[in-house]
Amino acid sequence: MSGPGKLAPKLCDDFLNFDPNKTLPTARLLVDHSPPVGEGQYLSYKIGSCRHEYTTKHTQSILPPLDSRPDATTTYKLSVVCKKCRLHAVVVTDYARSTDPCPNSGNPQHHFRNLPDEGGSSATQIAYAWQCSASQCQAQLQITYRTPRLTDGDRDLLTNTERLKRRFDAVVEHNPSRDGLRQATPMEALSRLRKYIHDSLNPTHNRRAFPADNKRFMETFGVHGKECLPLLQRLGFKYDEADTGFEWSLPNPEVINNRLTVDVNDERELLEDVEFELAALMFRIAIDTGAMNPSASEGWSDAKHDLERTLAAQGYPRYAPLRRVAPPNDLLPYFASLGALPDFADTLIEFAFDRQLDCDPERQSYYFECLQEIAKNRASEQLQTRVAMLHSQDMVSRRDVSAAFRHLDIPLRLPHEKPITDEYILDCFQARQANSSAAVAEGNRDALYKIGISRHSQPLISASKQSVETYEEALAWLGQSANKDMPDDMLLAIAATKQESASDKEIARKAISTIARERKSEPLNNWLLTGSSSGFEMTVEEAMQHITGTATTNLSAIDATILGIQIDSARSDRPGEHTEKAIRTIQKAMAHSPATWPVGLVSHGNTCYLNSLLQYYFGMKAYRDIILNYDQYKLDLHDATVKEHRVGGTQISTTEIKSGQRFARDLRELFQRMIKTRDSSVMPSKDLVCRAFLAPERYSELASDAIDDDVMPNGAEEHADTKISDVTAPIAETPDPDSASKEERRASVASSATLQADDDAPMLDHGDRPPTPPASPTLKALPGKESSHSAPPLPPRRRATLQEMEKAEDKALKEAEEEAKKQQDVTEVHDSATQRLRAGMKALGVDDKTEEQVDALRVLYTVAVTDAVLRTDGTREKPSVSMHPGIQLNVPMEDTDIYSALDEVFDLQPSEREQGQEAFKSIRTLPPIVQVCIPRIAYENGQTSKFTKTVKLEDELYLDRYLENSDIFASREACWTLRRRLRNMRRERRVLRDADVAPDLDVPGVMSEAAAHLESLSGIDAEVVDIGLGSGLEIGPDLASDMKSAAERHSQRVVVLTKEIDSLHSELKSKCETAYRNLKTSKYRLAAVFFHRGGHGGGHYWLDIHDFTNNIWRRYNDETVQELPDNRIHEILEAKTYDHGTPTYVVYVEDSQKEELVQPVCRDPEPAPEPVQWENESARPAPFNTVDPKMITEGGRASWDSPRSVAETAW
Ligand SMILES: [Zn+2]
Ligand SMILES: [Zn+2]
Repeated sequence: MSGPGKLAPKLCDDFLNFDPNKTLPTARLLVDHSPPVGEGQYLSYKIGSCRHEYTTKHTQSILPPLDSRPDATTTYKLSVVCKKCRLHAVVVTDYARSTDPCPNSGNPQHHFRNLPDEGGSSATQIAYAWQCSASQCQAQLQITYRTPRLTDGDRDLLTNTERLKRRFDAVVEHNPSRDGLRQATPMEALSRLRKYIHDSLNPTHNRRAFPADNKRFMETFGVHGKECLPLLQRLGFKYDEADTGFEWSLPNPEVINNRLTVDVNDERELLEDVEFELAALMFRIAIDTGAMNPSASEGWSDAKHDLERTLAAQGYPRYAPLRRVAPPNDLLPYFASLGALPDFADTLIEFAFDRQLDCDPERQSYYFECLQEIAKNRASEQLQTRVAMLHSQDMVSRRDVSAAFRHLDIPLRLPHEKPITDEYILDCFQARQANSSAAVAEGNRDALYKIGISRHSQPLISASKQSVETYEEALAWLGQSANKDMPDDMLLAIAATKQESASDKEIARKAISTIARERKSEPLNNWLLTGSSSGFEMTVEEAMQHITGTATTNLSAIDATILGIQIDSARSDRPGEHTEKAIRTIQKAMAHSPATWPVGLVSHGNTCYLNSLLQYYFGMKAYRDIILNYDQYKLDLHDATVKEHRVGGTQISTTEIKSGQRFARDLRELFQRMIKTRDSSVMPSKDLVCRAFLAPERYSELASDAIDDDVMPNGAEEHADTKISDVTAPIAETPDPDSASKEERRASVASSATLQADDDAPMLDHGDRPPTPPASPTLKALPGKESSHSAPPLPPRRRATLQEMEKAEDKALKEAEEEAKKQQDVTEVHDSATQRLRAGMKALGVDDKTEEQVDALRVLYTVAVTDAVLRTDGTREKPSVSMHPGIQLNVPMEDTDIYSALDEVFDLQPSEREQGQEAFKSIRTLPPIVQVCIPRIAYENGQTSKFTKTVKLEDELYLDRYLENSDIFASREACWTLRRRLRNMRRERRVLRDADVAPDLDVPGVMSEAAAHLESLSGIDAEVVDIGLGSGLEIGPDLASDMKSAAERHSQRVVVLTKEIDSLHSELKSKCETAYRNLKTSKYRLAAVFFHRGGHGGGHYWLDIHDFTNNIWRRYNDETVQELPDNRIHEILEAKTYDHGTPTYVVYVEDSQKEELVQPVCRDPEPAPEPVQWENESARPAPFNTVDPKMITEGGRASWDSPRSVAETAW
């Protein structure tokens, strides 16, 4: 139980002023408490209330004896009645629970708290209950009100002179001869009844009956008293026929032994009450009429003293000055709130305050305000001392709290009843604190402190005291919604903003230190040590939060493709060290052991398929080997400067040969880095990017090209014995693990080498080739070959500066990226790259027909395709043969599968060579690697569009059915007709159904929408004509309905077509299965798939490779290489959604060689550099801070001081 109470004197005062008949159920002066000042209406007695004049009904009361203290057996009872309103009240105090009743040493007064559940009311009674809050007392108090016994009708009956006159007339009429009759006055009527009652209450009164025709009786109550019979009988009078005639007898109420347990309907107490009420009415009549009151001498003693005694409230210490000056009205509510009276002495005021605080701590700040106000008004030293002491004990008054809220600009109430939380207050405080001067900041903290105290909120108090001793305090102090889930780096970011203010700097460090201790956080400790967050290692969780917005450490569940996009957008949206760190952290976490996992390639930007293609070349062992051992395959320009054979159908120039070889060297350099790096990814050189996309004529612009390409004449012999195992042999160009800075290093090496060469190195004569330095760093590593470079020196060339070269290189890179954007798909980039590589290679032979160079690369992937014209008479011509780098499918216009798509290529179709004839293609020879291009860009309806239809791939692909083989020709032929029909129907359905104008609608849908629109237009049309604005749009009257019916026709046709297509498709399928069931010799396995997502000329690219040896698929997504789990293989085999991307190039390998052909893991990471061990201290290089004194004198102090001090801290 909690809540405020009232000291006994206050309750007495309220009792005397309380009129239960004139009060609202919610504002009962006696029972309720006024709301705090300013928060509602002050409770006072209601206008119209009776200013009671209670007198004690002594016979009904058990009053405390003057000289005894109550104990557990004690109950006191005070019964009173009001002279004015005749209200009866019973006040009972029960000490049954008391061990030491008030007043005692600690409790000078009872402090009564209302017990709302223990009252009750009926038609004539209402009761309230209280209990003293002192634990040793717990006195129970009950006050019961009872309505008057005499009704208004009774009163009228007895005092209405008209009625008294009628009764008199009736008595005279009854016995006209009777002498001395006169009309009774109201006073006489009351007095006579009161006398009868008084007599009847006296047990010793003997004469208890009188004749019914008593003269005075009849004057008052009528003939034989019959007119007042109901009242008299209600009071217990009896009317009987006796020997002497009719008579009335008085009530004879029993004597009551126990006044505490007396029944509410007890006859004696009824009569006692009526006796008091009659006396009260007589006082009233005396006042109203001036009539003599025969009972005036009995008086009407005031019950107040008895009341005070019953509540033990008598004689409390009073505030002396009050006799001279009344307290101001606006102070009264504060007394009332303390349950006190304005005349309480300071001691009792303090006691009242203490009791209220004890019983209603929630309103502590308000009670303190009450005390403050009273102390101020009284200028009392005692109370003011108390107030000051409480201040020092961290008590704040409500007024101070309101001021604090105002100070911090926090509203006392939020709209929509939204609660004001600690967090809200803290945020307001932090926001203010951020822009405050030191003095204001101090004021803010004081305000926050007061609010914290009033709310009993430790976080607010701690924040105001700048205490950061606990985890919670530290977070609260940081503010800005810092919480336990916030990652370290965000906390550091907040701490950094705090650091800007000198006063907060130290506390910020303390706060971080507290948090670091709690979290055992390395990054936070690091920050404390180094003062910067740049040195700390981000956790994977934090990094993921930063990049993806989701804090997770379960990286295996993450789609590398999506992560790649998120990384891209993080780089563009939030560029900076933090983002880069997060990316590195994630990549590190995703990286596998360097020895067993392929390395990723950092993207250079918009170079489209290049990274995927480089990964493809690397992952296909056959390709990789050729590049790593390219010197074995390259054409020796000493032997032949001109190519005899064609490459890719064209004649090759010397420049192209050289640039091809240069490209191969860059590729080899990259591959070597991919093998040897300890990192999870490397970045291809800018030059490589340029060489992949720029025309060979422009290679000379590249910085690295300045080093040389002169080694080529001899290079072949020099490196003839280089095997894959040798590629890690030390060469000057050994890749720096830090691939990003590699290029700068390289460029700088290149230029210095060039400059040096110009001065003192012998030069080779290379005719038209640009002058070059004597020996590439590559060759320096291989001793004994220098002599072959002897040649007359060239005239000195212009010295190109490093800046110029870098500028030219950046320009070239930009242009390369521009070129890259023009590439339609991976095929073009792939073709151009293999073309370059092959241009630099020596021919192993020549293709008779095409004069095409036969080389080691070409044999890996070249498909020989025959094309035979099938004449209308059924005869076949001798087929022509052509060589292709793979099989190119048609742009899939509908969802399809790899066999259907291949069928389209090899089916009978209009001949490309002979007008009007039909022809079909077959495969004559299959290479180990079958590259299938799925073009996605088609020119349709006047524009270039990308088609992302699904092409379902087969993991195992049998190509026998397309082979040039007379045994299966009949089967193929049988399918052609069916397929042609199927194709035609699909084409028709496509035209009827697929509308490009509205993505949600098919063609019939578009047409009916249009028809509806036309109809609405014709309505508008009529209106337009109506208001005279013109002649309208002139829409044909039938157009809309024509369109409508056409839409319906199309719609029906599509349904029919779909049905036919489905049945035809299954017929074909079963036919094929039967025909090709046994044709499973040329088995190929899906090895690699290139994906694209996004629009034409942009988007995102990645590559999936099947590692047959380890039997896993990996996704190569720029710098990330991740396993694609089994449950996601369907994303490769049947890419359907935008997220899956669109396969644009798929690679199958011959089944029996698959593990030899595809070997994506090729790693030989260099060991980590050993820390240098100095044999003795003197061998250690001189530390930075031993500054050469000569330097100081020469350079001047100012310029040397700063580096020296930096060096000192570093050591
Ligand atoms: Zn009254
Ligand atoms: Zn008490």
